[in-house]
Amino acid sequence: MKTLHKFLILILSLFLSVFFSIAVFAWSEHPMLAHPALKGLPLWNRLDAVAAKNLKTFLVEAEPQLEQFLAQQEAWSRANLPNYAPRPDELAFKATGNPDDILYRFYTAIRVNPHIKVPLYLHLLPNDDTKGRTVADPRHITTLKDISSMLNTTYVWISEGELLLPLDVLSAGNDEPDYGFDLGLFADNNTDYGTVYGFGSQAFGNPNLEYSSQAPFHMGFYHEAKILYKFGPFLKRTYLDYRIQLYRAMSEFAFTNNQPYWGWRFMGWGMHYMGDISMPYHVKPLPGVSTLKMIWINLKAMLGLPAAKDNAVQLVSNRHTVLEEFQVQALRIAHQESNWDHPFLQALTNPIDHVTFSENFIVDVAAKESAQSSKNMDKYIEKYMPATMVSDPAIEVDDLPELDYIVQVVKEEKGQQAVDKITVAIAERLRFYSMHIRSYMTSILDAAGV
Ligand SMILES: [Zn+2]
Repeated sequence: MKTLHKFLILILSLFLSVFFSIAVFAWSEHPMLAHPALKGLPLWNRLDAVAAKNLKTFLVEAEPQLEQFLAQQEAWSRANLPNYAPRPDELAFKATGNPDDILYRFYTAIRVNPHIKVPLYLHLLPNDDTKGRTVADPRHITTLKDISSMLNTTYVWISEGELLLPLDVLSAGNDEPDYGFDLGLFADNNTDYGTVYGFGSQAFGNPNLEYSSQAPFHMGFYHEAKILYKFGPFLKRTYLDYRIQLYRAMSEFAFTNNQPYWGWRFMGWGMHYMGDISMPYHVKPLPGVSTLKMIWINLKAMLGLPAAKDNAVQLVSNRHTVLEEFQVQALRIAHQESNWDHPFLQALTNPIDHVTFSENFIVDVAAKESAQSSKNMDKYIEKYMPATMVSDPAIEVDDLPELDYIVQVVKEEKGQQAVDKITVAIAERLRFYSMHIRSYMTSILDAAGV
């Protein structure tokens, strides 16, 4: 009996592990959210402009302190992060004093894609002026081959030493983790670094898709039924908390070592992951599908009837995509029209009540409320979005040209009332988002004495 039980769990695990085949960016174009959420805070008035500094310059200057700092942070992660994959000892950052390979030593010590670009640039919002700066080609900023999602944004080059507003530095950093940082980090991603980083094989997502390998770093499933973890232990293998805490510590390190430019930019990195949490499709594997149903459709798949499982995966993937597209397109229009009364911009400037950041904030505060919201959000999407886009598993919504003007499509097919209902539901999420990122920022500035 016991063997049969074990066998069943093994089989179910195998099937559950193919549950998720797609990964997306979570909230899209984070600076359009973070900038309005933070810009009205009084602290900007008392802060000086900061001088842009190349990452390499920063590393060379901070190298003597960096070795010890990263060693301490690694020890902290091993002791405090519940599902942490320890960084292999041979990747530890060593202060060798050699500037030629310092970027590589740093990237591999923090286990990001060593090919990332991290140049000096600003990420402009829709109404921002280039102020005569040279517009940057996104291909020099990201490692992604498909740059379509960046073509709506204007990036401009800046030079080392240029004085910049801290919030603009934070904004530029805020979208960067979607520019290739977490790609190819798993042993089965066919990269040379993935085989030595110690994250094992990719827990979920299709390892053959260009950016799906970042999914386990931008998602975290902390609030599933116990039985689901038993059937799908891979659900725990996410590294969102690692990124949030590592970049939080790096930001604090930079500030306390008199490197404010990197203090703000690292804060932007960490804030990206902090912000991903309020997107409900990033904290639940299948929002709107009960535990029992997940197990049931997997059982059917196991018996050679995969249709129900395939359909559920396709629907969740489509709803995830549609929600993000609606958010980013509506938000871009609000920015373009300087519509500060738009519910999204109102929500970002009026967050829910503040909760102070602590070690359990990620799981017990942010992810918890986001997971709780997922069922309702899923219902809203089902009710108010066009049925072809969210309720037809034969459709891959990414292939539909009307996805590019989704707000208009919802209005035509479901009426203005549907647009309003979805807008309000997303705005409610953004009130939580705004609190989460403010709490994160405050904790760093307080700790660093900024
Ligand atoms: Zn993300």
